[in-house]
Amino acid sequence: MDVTVIAETSGDRLHPVTAQLVGAVVSIGGTPTVLCAGGMGAAEAASISGVAKVISVVGDCFGTFDGGAWAEALNAVTGGDVIIAAASSTGREIAATMAAMRGIPIIQDATNLAPGISVTRPIYSGKAIETSTVTTPCAITLRANAFDAAGGGGSAEVSTVNQSADVAVAVREAIAKASERLDVAEANIIISGGRGMGDPANFSYLNEIADIIGAAVGASRAAVDTWEEIPHDMQVGQTGKTVTPSLYIAVGISGAIQHLAGMRTSKYIVAINKDPDAPIFGVADYGIVATWEDALPALKVELGKL
Ligand SMILES: Cc1cc2nc3c(=O)[nH]c(=O)nc-3n(C[C@H](O)[C@H](O)[C@H](O)COP(=O)(O)OP(=O)(O)OC[C@H]3O[C@@H](n4cnc5c(N)ncnc54)[C@H](O)[C@@H]3O)c2cc1C
Repeated sequence: MDVTVIAETSGDRLHPVTAQLVGAVVSIGGTPTVLCAGGMGAAEAASISGVAKVISVVGDCFGTFDGGAWAEALNAVTGGDVIIAAASSTGREIAATMAAMRGIPIIQDATNLAPGISVTRPIYSGKAIETSTVTTPCAITLRANAFDAAGGGGSAEVSTVNQSADVAVAVREAIAKASERLDVAEANIIISGGRGMGDPANFSYLNEIADIIGAAVGASRAAVDTWEEIPHDMQVGQTGKTVTPSLYIAVGISGAIQHLAGMRTSKYIVAINKDPDAPIFGVADYGIVATWEDALPALKVELGKL
């Protein structure tokens, strides 16, 4: 039985629970292939005893966690009968999204596996224990510390696959999460552009989106200072306007402290920037690491569907 194990990571290291996932798979006679999102922990995964193969899945989407984008990228390289992940917040989200994409059942938070496949898990907040038999294909998440970890000493082959997920997936998630928080009674939205827009004419992309969602268009000081076409009354920041909208979308804005001073109290902040290290991501609730040229057309399409 071929089993895909989604590696759990902590920072850019492999989390010890991954060896427990492998141990559980081997205990029911499975052959584990470990997928390492963003290539994180691939070498460590290869050294776990019993691992048949490690696939290091790299791509633009792995800069920040986005369940939909990660699942789409991992799903494209997943084979086998069973998907196994840790029952952590990220593992649950990725496994559930992959299961939905494949139209297969998922069992969350298993505490025991037996050949067959028999799955035991707590139900009713742990007041009862359920054991059921599942048919493959299926996805199962496993509770940490409930399974014996596989040992070290393995030497599995590591291959690398570049699997950039569609930026539209990240954009869809951003919109869904923003909508969750937006209160119609205070539907104030601002979409601001910075020097990263490259040319004042490109603010037309922001205007189009603003028209769809009823937003105002703002700008950074660098944008208003650089281009006379962008009026100073659009400037947000320490020497511009202080705003507190429900949703603030920063596009091509680095996130200098003087800009943050004017918008960091926004209820919900979405940042689109091609630089994953841009400071704006430090205050963003949702960050999309992409050029605006990629992200804004996808955002417009998705908003048009609402
Ligand atoms: C006293 C003082 C007061 C100030 N007051 C303000 C203020 O009120 N408001 C304000 O905004 N600033 C203010 N500033 C200026 C501030 O320090 C920054 O210089 C300014 O905010 C930078 O603007 P920016 O992020 O648009 O430009 P940049 O710093 O040039 O950043 C551009 C960003 O765009 C990204 N980018 C480039 N191309 C693309 C692409 N194709 N797609 C996506 N991303 C891309 C880059 O990665 C970069 O992060 C003040 C400064 C001082 C000293």
